[in-house]
Amino acid sequence: MVERTDLRLKILRLLRRQPHRYDRRRLLGMGVSLGVLFAVPLLGLARVDLWRGRHLLLGAPAPFKHALAGVIVGIAATYVATFLVNLAGGRLFCGWGCPVGQLSRFAEALDGPGLSRRQRLAAHLRGGSFSAALSLSILAWWVDLRVLWQGSPAALASAWGVLAGAVALAWAHGRFWRWDFCAGACPIGLYYSLVSPARWFGVHFRDQLATCLDCDACDNVCPVGLAPRSLMDPTGPRPGLAVDGAPGRNHCLECGDCVRACEWMIARRGREPVPLRLGFFAGPQRLPAPPEARPAPQPALRKAG
Ligand code: SF4
Ligand code: SF4
Repeated sequence: MVERTDLRLKILRLLRRQPHRYDRRRLLGMGVSLGVLFAVPLLGLARVDLWRGRHLLLGAPAPFKHALAGVIVGIAATYVATFLVNLAGGRLFCGWGCPVGQLSRFAEALDGPGLSRRQRLAAHLRGGSFSAALSLSILAWWVDLRVLWQGSPAALASAWGVLAGAVALAWAHGRFWRWDFCAGACPIGLYYSLVSPARWFGVHFRDQLATCLDCDACDNVCPVGLAPRSLMDPTGPRPGLAVDGAPGRNHCLECGDCVRACEWMIARRGREPVPLRLGFFAGPQRLPAPPEARPAPQPALRKAG
């Protein structure tokens, strides 16, 4: 697993040298998620105010119990929204809209080989800012954020203390727990490893065996240890909370890292088309590739570092 992680970081560092359409899409997905998290309390749709008791529901002052019910309904609605997204596209929300996964993505940018001090500082700033934004958005559900500059000394200390603790926790999650949470602890992940309702969308290995380099870049870059070329096959034992023996696609975060790595490898070799694709399935492209049909291994990736 350590070796796989090192290879993932090495591949990601190579990939980051070139802007990619997935960077913009993920930025958009995270922007929407954070936007919703901020919008509900700041627009007063639901907010409990543990500071001055100015609770809100549907834009109007409300008793504590009603506002708390609104917050609970809001959290449940967020889960329903992610459920619907995932229902259509597997764990699509995990790969493109979940701030917890994004914390891991920001944190691992610090561990890439050969980082200069400036790059390291920039990675800290990006990850820290995202952790702060996420923590602030969660705090906004439970207190009027004006407590951060208008509160009494005790209220100020409490609010800033809670915020600092949440930021530290979020950043520590990305640094230390990272993708192990997505693979073996997230309740949403457990649910999807059970049911995998996505029938039409996901990563698939197209019937393009002639262009596959068998370089294993897709395997090595997968953050949750899957084999992207054969996601229809049952997986072996999985860590943490997971269903052993379910097809790989049940565990797939739909993050597209394997596709991006594949595109990069194929472009270097001047081949077309790219064997891996993230999108709608079409006909036999869903089928796993028979191992005996793959071309002889070519250790292109090992030379790339
Ligand atoms: S060419 Fe693409 S699909 Fe084939 S092994 Fe390399 S990364 Fe995977
Ligand atoms: S198989 Fe590909 S899309 Fe799925 S989690 Fe692994 S890298 Fe991400």
